[in-house]
Amino acid sequence: MLRPSRAEQVPELVRLFDSPETPSLYAVSTGHNWGLGSREPVGDGAVRLELHGMDRIRRLDTDQGWAIIEAGATQRQLSEQLIGTRRLLNVTASSAHTSVLGNALDRGVGLRRQRTHDLAGLEVVLPGGEVTRVGWWPGDRVGAPNPHGLGPSLLHLFTQSDLGIAVAGAVRLPVRPEVQHVLRLTFGAADLAPAVDAFRRWQGQGLLQGILKIYDTTSASSYGIPAPPVTWRT
Ligand SMILES: Cc1cc2nc3c(=O)[nH]c(=O)nc-3n(C[C@H](O)[C@H](O)[C@H](O)COP(=O)(O)OP(=O)(O)OC[C@H]3O[C@@H](n4cnc5c(N)ncnc54)[C@H](O)[C@@H]3O)c2cc1C
Repeated sequence: MLRPSRAEQVPELVRLFDSPETPSLYAVSTGHNWGLGSREPVGDGAVRLELHGMDRIRRLDTDQGWAIIEAGATQRQLSEQLIGTRRLLNVTASSAHTSVLGNALDRGVGLRRQRTHDLAGLEVVLPGGEVTRVGWWPGDRVGAPNPHGLGPSLLHLFTQSDLGIAVAGAVRLPVRPEVQHVLRLTFGAADLAPAVDAFRRWQGQGLLQGILKIYDTTSASSYGIPAPPVTWRT
């Protein structure tokens, strides 16, 4: 296991493995990919590069709604920085200790939208140790975060891919709603199909915002959800 604490250390480490004779490198950010292999490398004999020590929030712009974060920065860290601002983080339903970037790189699912929609840019170390930036990145004159830029977009070459190791990323921060309500409905297994039809209609008509989740009783109880207050029967 290799545990760099600064982004500048990563290119040098990657160069050490740039040969057919050396083992492959497997990068994790915080490595909490529970239910999907956790931090276990995909292939045998790999050396794991653990990036949780690189956890800086390099820049934050709550006016334009973006943050430049390193791979180890967690949902908790970024959310706490946003308390009292008009922006929020599109969190997942996983732990507060998970990486924002690691989850986005694995195309995770936020509560408001897919995490790939939050990803605007990446700072990546390529297999030869070169460092490059793809997608949107703030320069001297900051324009609105547009992940696609001009011409072909290279950003998603690096999501669910082994073409490079992301050391930092630009993530977009949605506007914090002035008012919001969370509606919890329950229904029996026999009503699943008509319930899904109704939800699809509501979502299609824009009545629902965010990611709709349907849990069975066991999954719901693992989140500590008590017996629900509203029972819906079709
Ligand atoms: C109860 C429960 C609820 C959950 N809810 C959700 C949910 O709502 N949404 C969701 O998406 N997931 C959910 N998960 C799954 C998982 O916990 C999260 O996806 C979590 O964010 C992944 O862990 P991580 O952020 O530490 O990423 P990591 O484990 O660090 O990374 C995930 C994968 O991405 C790649 N990767 C990571 N970092 C890099 C990098 N810097 N460069 C290149 N490749 C990299 C690696 O292949 C790695 O295996 C849930 C799990 C549980 C147990």
